[in-house]
Amino acid sequence: MSIARLNPDQTFNVGKIVCVGQNYRLHIKEMKSKTSKDPVLFFKPSTALLTEGKNISLPDYSNEVHYETELALLVGKKAKNISCSEWKNYIIGAGIALDLTLRDWQRKAKEKGHPWAVAKGFDGSCPVSSFTPLSDIRDIQSLSIHLYLNNELRQDSNTREMIRPVDELLAYISKIFTLEEGDIILTGTPAGVGEIKSGDHLRAVISEIGSVEFIVI
Ligand code: MG
Repeated sequence: MSIARLNPDQTFNVGKIVCVGQNYRLHIKEMKSKTSKDPVLFFKPSTALLTEGKNISLPDYSNEVHYETELALLVGKKAKNISCSEWKNYIIGAGIALDLTLRDWQRKAKEKGHPWAVAKGFDGSCPVSSFTPLSDIRDIQSLSIHLYLNNELRQDSNTREMIRPVDELLAYISKIFTLEEGDIILTGTPAGVGEIKSGDHLRAVISEIGSVEFIVI
């Protein structure tokens, strides 16, 4: 069972992890992708979760693993067909996640029109911080996001740059998938994604939430 921690001392059994792709313009540009009409969604299984204190291990079947730093949301109760104005009743916490991606596998999948399950859902592909209660966050659309790779700033953005804000994402996602307590939503990465190698140190920071660090072995 994968466990998410809500500060100070609550735990949740993690269910599905619903991820949003292509939600920041500069990231779409760096990936040479096109903005899509509907949100791009994909899943990670609960076994992708890697909590703070554990190390990232690189799968031996990939030669190009990338970090993507994302605002993560923890679902507090069952949500179906919720409206934009209701989202705060269903999300209990906000955290920091890395959407680790096998870029070589993703490139192959895109070329062939295959799913992204391997590229995005492998074991340990979702390192995550503990979650801060949503009630402690003033404005979810005004949080700075920073990623430092070996103490060098690589990602520098703000949740206000999201193409589709959190309220719209949750209305859309809950129309298609019933969200349940312990599910996690990843809201997309800003630009500045890049490769990680064995020995690297990652520190991701989101204002009002805090920071989380991982070592790559
Ligand atoms: Mg992502």
